[in-house]
Amino acid sequence: RVVVGTKVDQTHVNWVTAYNMLTGIRFTVSRTNAKMDRELTDADFGAKHKFSFDITGNELTPSAKYDFKFKDYAPWVFRHLRSIFKLDPADYLVSLTSKYILSELGSPGKSGSFFYFSRDYKYIIKTIHHAEHKFLRKILKDYYNHVQENPDTLLSQFYGLHRVKIPYGRKIHFVVMNNLFPPHRDIHSTFDLKGSTIGRDYKEDGLAANPRATMKDLNWLRRDTHLEFGPTKKKAFIEQMQKDVQLLQRLHIMDYSLLVGIHDLEKGNEENLRDKTLRVFQPGGEDAEESLPNTLMRTPSKLESARKAKELRQIIKTQKPVPMDQMASKMPDELQDPKKHFYFYADDGGFRATHENDAPGDEIYYLGIIDCLTHYSFIKRMEHFFKGLSNEGSQISAIPPDRYGDRFVKFISGVTKSKEEAEREKTEEVAV
Ligand code: ATP
Ligand code: CA
Ligand code: CA
Repeated sequence: RVVVGTKVDQTHVNWVTAYNMLTGIRFTVSRTNAKMDRELTDADFGAKHKFSFDITGNELTPSAKYDFKFKDYAPWVFRHLRSIFKLDPADYLVSLTSKYILSELGSPGKSGSFFYFSRDYKYIIKTIHHAEHKFLRKILKDYYNHVQENPDTLLSQFYGLHRVKIPYGRKIHFVVMNNLFPPHRDIHSTFDLKGSTIGRDYKEDGLAANPRATMKDLNWLRRDTHLEFGPTKKKAFIEQMQKDVQLLQRLHIMDYSLLVGIHDLEKGNEENLRDKTLRVFQPGGEDAEESLPNTLMRTPSKLESARKAKELRQIIKTQKPVPMDQMASKMPDELQDPKKHFYFYADDGGFRATHENDAPGDEIYYLGIIDCLTHYSFIKRMEHFFKGLSNEGSQISAIPPDRYGDRFVKFISGVTKSKEEAEREKTEEVAV
């Protein structure tokens, strides 16, 4: 399959950071998962544990290639979250640690965050601002309760919160979350929708060079695009979005968006899309066995399962024992896709369009509400800062979280309609 991004290997400027992140995750996640499961306590939400890694290793931590400090936040809460989201503990570990190959997405944007994909493209590591980090810790209980009551939430699924620091380096906070986009299907167009029109236009001349660019609200409207759901899916989708947005409003969050990737089943997976992407790398391209001529079409393969089995055995050999009920019951041959348990991700990892009669349509939507760790006060501060610097800041329009959420829901609901419904409205408009 095709991944847009730059491979993070030993020559990459962020190799050490990526290595440290993955080493820390591997250690802390297996450490927590090695214990018997238990109920959460209030203290679990505020918990943090600090580990020092160095090249010699010590009684607590194994040796690592570099000296660094790693902090693990609320490990038990995230263990439970991963379980609510039906991740297989062993699979999570293997995906995020196998041979430390990640890809890095793009250059840092406005927020300065970096994105890394796990090699199998299932997980995203996003570096976050210290304010976002503090905020996630503060709202973790609300988030947890919400997810427990709404396992079908459209909000980003958070699987871990950590911090790395190299000697004399700065502290880097990061979250691990779900990649909304599938490893095995091309996304033909991508939109990041906020329900606002100010500054929400992607210059479409850029699309020829980069067909995977993320477009925005104005591009969506100009193309007269819809989320084509018939009555059943439409109702479920809007109801869940409303519940999720209610939480975001209550927590005074804003600036989030609905990320929508559209896979057109008629187009399928196009080989030539590959040439048009800016930077391309195939996960696993390192392995001769995986350098198949057409990795694009392949669904998670037997080879991949075999590789996972091998790596899993390696992990089991080198790590502290993990309770057998968690590890051995699901050997990789039966590794299931956890997404199939979730309504909005059950159609091959996404949510398939339906017609007015609820019969399946021609597109699969890969969607979710992302970037939901911005507190209103933070936006206000940024706005002030930018306004003082230049007039570029006038493009950021901070409206209070209640209004932001209402506008968001209104916009998304307004563009959610079956093909038939949209066509009928158009003819009615013409008639009037
Ligand atoms: P800003 O604050 O400037 O909007 P940011 O650094 O906070 O940017 P996000 O808005 O979280 O970044 O995401 C930027 C882009 O990264 C998205 O438009 C999307 O293309 C991609 N992305 C983010 N989260 C996910 C995800 N969970 N799955 C797939 N792609 C994602
Ligand atoms: Ca954003
Ligand atoms: Ca952001």
